[in-house]
Amino acid sequence: MTALPADIDTLVVGAGQAGVAMSEHLSAAGVPHLVLERDRIAERWRTGRWDSLVANGPAWHDRFPGLTFTDLAPGEFADKNRIAAYFEDYAARFSAPIRTGIAVESVRRRPGESGFVVETSQGTLIAQRVVAATGAFQKPVIPEIAPDTPTLHQLHSSAYRNPEQLPAGGVLVVGSGSSGTQIADELLRAGRDVYLSVGPHDRPPRSYRGRDFCWWLGVLGLWDAETAGAEEAHVTIAVSGAHGGHTVDFRELAHRGMTLVGRTRAFDDGQVAFDDDLAANLARGDENYRALLDAADAYVARYGLDLPPEPEARRMAAQPQCVSQPRRRLDLEKADVRTVIWATGFASDYRWLAVDAVDAAGQPRHHRGVGTEPGVYFLGLPWLSHRGSSFIWGVWHDARRIADHIVTRRAYFGQGDDVEAAADPATAETPAHATASR
Ligand SMILES: Cc1cc2nc3c(=O)[nH]c(=O)nc-3n(C[C@H](O)[C@H](O)[C@H](O)COP(=O)(O)OP(=O)(O)OC[C@H]3O[C@@H](n4cnc5c(N)ncnc54)[C@H](O)[C@@H]3O)c2cc1C
Repeated sequence: MTALPADIDTLVVGAGQAGVAMSEHLSAAGVPHLVLERDRIAERWRTGRWDSLVANGPAWHDRFPGLTFTDLAPGEFADKNRIAAYFEDYAARFSAPIRTGIAVESVRRRPGESGFVVETSQGTLIAQRVVAATGAFQKPVIPEIAPDTPTLHQLHSSAYRNPEQLPAGGVLVVGSGSSGTQIADELLRAGRDVYLSVGPHDRPPRSYRGRDFCWWLGVLGLWDAETAGAEEAHVTIAVSGAHGGHTVDFRELAHRGMTLVGRTRAFDDGQVAFDDDLAANLARGDENYRALLDAADAYVARYGLDLPPEPEARRMAAQPQCVSQPRRRLDLEKADVRTVIWATGFASDYRWLAVDAVDAAGQPRHHRGVGTEPGVYFLGLPWLSHRGSSFIWGVWHDARRIADHIVTRRAYFGQGDDVEAAADPATAETPAHATASR
């Protein structure tokens, strides 16, 4: 195996889509760099998710600009293995300098010198800059209310693979974002009794007037939103590309036999208590759904687009009994519920990054991906710079901007070929975060 270089200009940690995009832009800009990945390229797509997962966005949308999914129709949804293969192919196109099977164990500022000391599972190197592209979905979060009941099988959605993996019996799925909803639907189709604990959510229509919601978010400028609304950041989005793609409709799931319940509040003595918020949460989701239809109709009218009206999209299924008479408690044994799946999200994990750009709570401190510690960058985080930042297509644009920032910074220190260009006020882009340090 080739030894690691002793030093490198820019180190990218992680070779998911964020690391691959970063490498493409750094390559195009001629910045010497190395990508270290502890597993394989796009490992989370390969092994970190359930077996039947497909992309939530259609093939024309959930991709990088430079390569299409040649074997899929634009409106099809790539399965997770196809997505992993896509990023592997993508990296090969420009011979991305990715080294797999090497974990970055720590990154520390070099005292009195520029750059960082990087400890890896295969030795130490010095890097002038570090881009953390380790993903937003690192540590599964299971809330503290999870009971300590050995007879109850509990797992996080990231550990769910397929219905056969679970013990026989009913399942309570906690969380109604894309993961919780899709897993609950799969279990229902597999003949399980399913209870789905529904919290506040947005649920865009899969498509409207012949266009996918990804298209609507694009033309309406909603992907570009730079800050999440007060509630938005904490609200999950329920959308699905499964079975050819469909709108997530909780009432329809209930009419097919799923029992919807409110937010899970507590476990006590074999019983689960739910909040009395199911109807309100569904109403909020409906409001969000209708708001997108209204915005789309207004857009069609304003620009005189020839898109077929779709009045049936506004028809809602009848309120199921589990919503009109919501269950506030569930006796797990009586209901034969033997599994709880926590589809309750993820937290970040930057323990390896011992620099000033990570606060005491382990949260990255940055502005649009540029860390508060000069030379440190973050990529792939939700709302890093806009709504699209943690999604496939959006991370590519953030990576380009961060590469530009790196190029400008390098020029100040005479490391690049473009020192004079950067020194010329007519051509230099003044970096927003330029400081006297590298
Ligand atoms: C269930 C699920 C479904 C999703 N579906 C979609 C979708 O359909 N469309 C979409 O656009 N987005 C989707 N996303 C969001 C996002 O696109 C994915 O989470 C994507 O995997 C994020 O890519 P990333 O490169 O930022 O991070 P990751 O894919 O998590 O890649 C990070 C990489 O860093 C490596 N790594 C971590 N720490 C270290 C270390 N210390 N040293 C070396 N390597 C390290 C990891 O092994 C990993 O390969 C989904 C997310 C989830 C959770």
